[in-house]
Amino acid sequence: MGTARQALAIHGGCGVLPHDSMTLAEWDGARSDLGRALAAGWAVLSGGGSAVAAVEAAVNVMEDSPHFNAGHGAALNADGVHELDASIMDGATLEAGAISAARHIRNPVSAARALMNDGRAVFLTGPDADRFAEAAGFAPVAQEYFTTQKRVEALAAMKAHALAGTEASENEKHGTVGAVALDLAGHLAAATSTGGYTNKPPGRVGDSPVIGAGTYARDGVCAVSGTGKGEYFIRHVVGHEIAARMAYLGECLEEASERVVMEDLGATRQHGEIIGAGLVAIDAEGRVSAPYNTAGMFRGWVTPDGRAYVATHDELHEVTL
Ligand code: ASP
Repeated sequence: MGTARQALAIHGGCGVLPHDSMTLAEWDGARSDLGRALAAGWAVLSGGGSAVAAVEAAVNVMEDSPHFNAGHGAALNADGVHELDASIMDGATLEAGAISAARHIRNPVSAARALMNDGRAVFLTGPDADRFAEAAGFAPVAQEYFTTQKRVEALAAMKAHALAGTEASENEKHGTVGAVALDLAGHLAAATSTGGYTNKPPGRVGDSPVIGAGTYARDGVCAVSGTGKGEYFIRHVVGHEIAARMAYLGECLEEASERVVMEDLGATRQHGEIIGAGLVAIDAEGRVSAPYNTAGMFRGWVTPDGRAYVATHDELHEVTL
């Protein structure tokens, strides 16, 4: 691992992100919450904490924010229910925890971490995931906790599209949050949390909790957290694909992640549309890559020298941690 230094990157989902879809105050709020998520993760790393603890801390902030599709503010499925997916992976041990279709866990990524530590299973789903979280000490929350006016309106708009026979852009439906980190001990970790996409079929599980697809971390190689149409991340096994390209082809992080997002996924079309995809990834030296093939992606990173940036579209904003 040798020269490894700490580094952190986060995302809050990719998509069209039209400027008029949010008020100026909401854009500011989203950027400031990205900054708070970076600060939370960085506080862990600079205090000598683990990459696993850092990605959990960063994701928790975005789960609690109404601006992103995870935790509070998560998307509603076709039945008007929130079903939440999340996972976390420790690159040092390849241990992982994943939760899907949970309905009452306030911070699903923390339940995923508890499952990873518990060790009896990697992946729990539905009511059993909720029961595990409660037994692990996470007080259940009512569905209303997750609901925001915006998500109620988004579901109504999706249903109207369905009735009218018009297809909403894939990019407009979803969102996710995630983080990747390298700690001072040279260990990598990744975490992802999502409400999936608006009007998704009940029981549908996306890529975010699928280890190797939406989330992957392996020491000495890379950590990856994805956002975009999960079905394609699962089919392309995106996180593992990037790690495999690096490990077996000797590609650098930038080459491998750009190739998968821009070519493998970017060349895939559904109803004439490119499959919207983005991700954040970090390598064993703390280099960060954050490619997306959509108009924008909520994202942020801290470089090994401690400079922090957040962005939604092309322009970067340097932030103080
Ligand atoms: N990947 C998420 C899912 O398919 C959604 C997203 O990131 O936009 O559940």
